[in-house]
Order: sequence, then structure tokens, then C-alpha cells
Amino acid sequence: MKFDLEDTIAAIATAPGEAGIGIVRISGPASLTIADKVFRPRSARMPSHCKGFSVHYGWIVGGGEKKKIDEALLTVMRGPKSYTREDVVEISCHGGTVALRAVLDLALEGGCRLAHPGEFTKRAFLNGRIDLSQAEAVLDIIRAKTDSALKIGIQQLQGILSRELHKIRETLLGTLAQFEASIDFPEEEPSQVNPDEALPVLKALQKKLGAILEEAAHGRLYREGISTVICGRPNVGKSSLLNALLKQERSIVTPLAGTTRDTIEEIIDIKGIPIRIVDTAGIVEPKDLVERKAVQRTKRYIDTADLAILVFDGSRHLSSADNLLTEKLLKKNKAVIAVINKMDLKQKIERSRILKKIDSVISLSAKKIKNIDTLEEAIVSLVHKGKICIPESILTSNMRHIQGLRAVQRHIHEAVVSLQEKLSLEFVAHHIKDALGRLDEISGAKFSEDLLDTIFSEFCIGK
Ligand code: GDP
Repeated sequence: MKFDLEDTIAAIATAPGEAGIGIVRISGPASLTIADKVFRPRSARMPSHCKGFSVHYGWIVGGGEKKKIDEALLTVMRGPKSYTREDVVEISCHGGTVALRAVLDLALEGGCRLAHPGEFTKRAFLNGRIDLSQAEAVLDIIRAKTDSALKIGIQQLQGILSRELHKIRETLLGTLAQFEASIDFPEEEPSQVNPDEALPVLKALQKKLGAILEEAAHGRLYREGISTVICGRPNVGKSSLLNALLKQERSIVTPLAGTTRDTIEEIIDIKGIPIRIVDTAGIVEPKDLVERKAVQRTKRYIDTADLAILVFDGSRHLSSADNLLTEKLLKKNKAVIAVINKMDLKQKIERSRILKKIDSVISLSAKKIKNIDTLEEAIVSLVHKGKICIPESILTSNMRHIQGLRAVQRHIHEAVVSLQEKLSLEFVAHHIKDALGRLDEISGAKFSEDLLDTIFSEFCIGK
């Protein structure tokens, strides 16, 4: 496998747009030589003569007569004590696209190439500074939408998951060694595997993996949020409810254009859980093509949502359209909260009939912002009770871990069954080896180029 580690790479590491400061990052064997070409320090010492972890004031210069391009601070980090374990130079210059672009162009002219997305982090992985699950944590941190998601990302970056997996690996290796000794030297009494000893060890690992998986599912939820759809027939107050939720809570992303013109996905932070919420069209019987399309989209949203909030108008009797929507929704077998809106008006709705079908019914007023927090508490409580199941179709970094861990768990289970059924030791050893193989895929001790491409292509350039 060729990974171009001998190249020196450069990229703008800060977000595009106007800013006080922007950073161009350079990593690789020629970083310091390039810095010598483009940087004029105020002191006499050229970057290639500077110690690691030192910062220097000066000017970025370019062209034949070495014209001053921008004022800058240059940070020198010498490998292996750097993000990528290579020599790294970071040029902090003025933010803004033109200044940064000019500095980056000079660096490229100086003898490096533009970095691919995530290439700095990929190098940190290939050079052994972090394992794959830690590299993925970097992405999670960049993308964190709430404080809780950030905390989970930081924990993973610090290697908490890696250390747990390492311990499991060590135990499996120890057990495997015993089995292999018994297979190779069956006549030697002391090395014989004692199933009474091996069984509890494997069972304890199963339990440990179960706990990690449970936490991983929770972490995934905090990272990706719960996709929520607000449905109900027209005029019950769906848009008003979405607005009320947005007013009450910090909106993480202000109107992020959805895939279609008539739907907008908003993300709100409810007690640390990102709730991705869409307001749907609410048409029951489409009258024309446009409406039919809107109904189809609503159906798709409902199908993929983790949670549905079904809104009724409390000031009216239940209608056949309400009943039809309720029936359709309940068939989907997903978490549903019923909201009786317009509690400020005289109530006519048959609440008990809704309660017969849906456990969680909340009266509120979207317009008067009353009881919105009760709805929020109901959402959080569903999450904590594990009533919201997250579909597994979305492939994320964390999903990769979950699938890998499940496979490890399965192989260990097979090893346990083989032991209990007193099958030949080769069987048991085979299952343990499979479990070890899957563990190594999670940490990246064993990886394919395709897997790396998939993971790092999700990164931004400069990370
Ligand atoms: P949607 O079609 O379901 O999205 O409904 P809207 O949010 O557009 O609301 C329909 C109408 O009901 C609007 O005139 C709102 O002002 C009104 N409305 C929404 N919520 C309340 C409420 O809590 N109380 C009262 N009295 N009116 C409400």
C-alpha cells in the first residue's frame, strides 16, 4: 500500500470566510525548508534552525524580490512531537480568503502539494500517533452539535474506547495462546486448557462488550441526534409548534435548507440531545400533482424518522383525517408523542380516544408557548427509557464501531457455545481468532485502503 508519506502537504486549516486570523498548515519532510523560503523572521534565526514548539514573528514573503505578502506568526513543531508526527509548520496570518490563499500558493510553490481531505489526521494514524477510532473521534469533535456530543468525542479521542478494546484484545490473546498450546502439545499436562477457567473469562468479555455497545448506541444518539417529524392535518399548528420549540431552545442550525423547498430541517438542543426536526405538509388527500409530491415526501420523512410528534387541534373534535393519520403512523411502529395543541382555547377534542392509542399525550399551546417544556421532557424521557430506536441504516464512523463490536461479540459467543458443547479446541480457537480480527479492524491495526478512503474523505481539507 502506498500512502505518499514522503510528500509534504499543505492546506488552509481554518474555516473559509472573513476572520481575524487564518492558519495554513504544512506537514512533511520539507516543511521547514518551505518555511525558510516563504518566511522572513524578525530575528535572524530561520525556521529550519528553530526548536520544536516555538513561535516566531515575521513576514510572509514571495516573488522575485521577496515582497512582503502578510504579517504572520510561524509555529514550528518538529516530528515526532506534532499532530502528524512529521515536521509541521503552521503559519498564522490574517484571515480572509485572499491573504490565506496567497500564503498557501507560496507554500505550494515552495515544494509541497495540496493536502487531501483529512490527510493530516490520516498521517497521524498512519504514523501511529492515534488509532483509527481516535482519528474518527476528531471528525466527531469537528461535527459535534451539542456539548454532550463534544464530550463523547473528546473521550474517544483520549483513547477511552481504544484502551477498553486493547484490554479485551489482551485477554483474548492470552486465552488463544492457551488453546493453541493445548492443540499443539496435547500430551503436555500443564498447558492443557481448562474449560472451567476459560469459560468465565470469555463470558466476562461478552458482558463487557455488551456494556460498551450499550454506551456506543447512546453516544451515537448524542452525536447524530434524533430525527423527528412533526405531523398532523393542516392548521393544527405544526409550524407554530416548530417555531415554539425553536424559540424556547437554541437553534443549532438556522434554517438549513432541506432536500426540498417545502420542508426545512432544524436542529435544536434539548438537554444536550440534538433533535433534528422537520415540519411536514400534513395533507391527507392530495388534490393535485404538487400536493401528491408533498405527501410522498412527508411519507418518506415519517418512514425515516426516529420519533413522530402527532399534533391535534384541541379546539376541535377529532376528525376522520386525524384518525387516518394516527392509524397510518401507528402502523409504522415508531415512537409517537401526541400533542393536543391550542390548549388556550375551549377544548372539544376527545382526549381519551387518543390516549387509547398513544401512551404519551401532552396538551400545550404553541402560540402562547405553554407547556412546551413538558413536550421536551417527554422527548428526553423517551430517549432515556430507550424507547426511541435508532435505525442502523445511516453509516457513520460510530456505526462502524458498533457493527465491528457486534461481530466480536458474536464470535466470542460462538467460542463460548463451542466450549460448552465440548467441541474440538480448534473450533474454539478459530472463533477467538475471528473475534481478534474484527477487533483489529476497529482500532485500525488491520485496515484496507478503501476503509481509510471512506473514513477520511468525510473530513474537511486542512484537518
Ligand atoms: P399548520 O398548518 O399545522 O402548520 O398550522 P399553523 O402553525 O400554521 O397554525 C394554524 C393556525 O392555528 C394559525 O392561525 C395559528 O396562529 C393557530 N395556532 C397555532 N397554535 C395555536 C395555539 O396554541 N392557540 C391558538 N389559539 N391558535 C394557534
